[in-house]
Amino acid sequence: MNNFELLILNLAVMIIHNVFLILFLILSVLLSHGQTRKIIYIPDIPGYTTLKCDFHLHTVFSDGTVWPSVRVEEAWLDGLDAISITDHIEYRPHSKDITADHNRSFEIAEPLANSLNILLIRGAEISRSMPPGHLNALFIKNANLLDRENVTDALKEARDQGAFILWNHPGWKIQQPDTTLWWDEHTRLLKSDLMHGIEVFNDKEYYPEAIDWAFEKRLTILCNSDVHSPIGMSYDPENGHRPMTLVFAKSRTQGGIREALFSRRTVAYFNNTLAGTAGLLESLFFASVEIRNHPGRLSNGETKSLEITNNSDIDFEIELVQPGIGFDVNEKTILKAHRVTPIELRGNSAQVENMQELKIYYQVNNMMVSSTENLVVTLAVANN
Ligand SMILES: [Zn+2]
Ligand SMILES: [Zn+2]
Repeated sequence: MNNFELLILNLAVMIIHNVFLILFLILSVLLSHGQTRKIIYIPDIPGYTTLKCDFHLHTVFSDGTVWPSVRVEEAWLDGLDAISITDHIEYRPHSKDITADHNRSFEIAEPLANSLNILLIRGAEISRSMPPGHLNALFIKNANLLDRENVTDALKEARDQGAFILWNHPGWKIQQPDTTLWWDEHTRLLKSDLMHGIEVFNDKEYYPEAIDWAFEKRLTILCNSDVHSPIGMSYDPENGHRPMTLVFAKSRTQGGIREALFSRRTVAYFNNTLAGTAGLLESLFFASVEIRNHPGRLSNGETKSLEITNNSDIDFEIELVQPGIGFDVNEKTILKAHRVTPIELRGNSAQVENMQELKIYYQVNNMMVSSTENLVVTLAVANN
């Protein structure tokens, strides 16, 4: 090979190298701009599919700053199953620019929701001074008919359209500055079948009173973002999660969600905390963790270990509520999301050798069954 041939060969190698480099760069740029959907790891529970929902969102059609289809894209990116756009009926500060009727935000969002397989529930926010404050009507058929002078007429219209109605942000400081109060008006709505659920968490606010009211008055527990700006301005899906209502439905359909809401099969999920009935929370806890028992019988002075695998996105903060019979065990630990946590049992009396089963009673500090109580779970392990 002479010098000229060598030069040509070198040039060819350089060109091929650069072509690959350029192709690689183009591909990297494309991939980095291609957005992907997050998967929320919260398991199904026996008999029900667990749907991740946000039933309180605003757009430019009321006092929000985003276009309706953006709410659907955000829901897809965040891994949600269902949303409801609930623009205010009575408050439309952009009405000089946005002149369409109350059904328009739903109609704009619907085609994208269908193509992205997001369940879009038709809704609206009936927004009055306190009492009764703000109420969302979900599963309505025509939002324009909710535009009524009298709030009871608006709520009756929603109910007659088949709506599930919830009391939004019951402790919102603007309307309830001192304490979160239950008004006579709410008793009247409850008795008239005009209120079925209550938000225990909204945006960044938690209302412990609402959890207790939900149980006392048989209201469904809800937890929603009530977002007005782009969702990414309020929550970072890589470091935490947006507030959502977990719905335990018989099917991933609008009808399935509606049936579950009226049957009160929901759990609030906010800031790595869950609030709901003991039954649902216990099912969710045991669906999330797997307990591996290392073989061997525990005896006095010896140790036995367990491994708890947490397959969910939730860090469970567990704390011993009573001592083990015949053994000591970790007082407090965090079962971190997507991790295996070892638990060590140490025999402290001779009687432990005769026990067929060892029971450990932990309370889960981030699972609320009332404003003051946590879920207690029993980990039962065979002693052999
Ligand atoms: Zn509101
Ligand atoms: Zn709102």
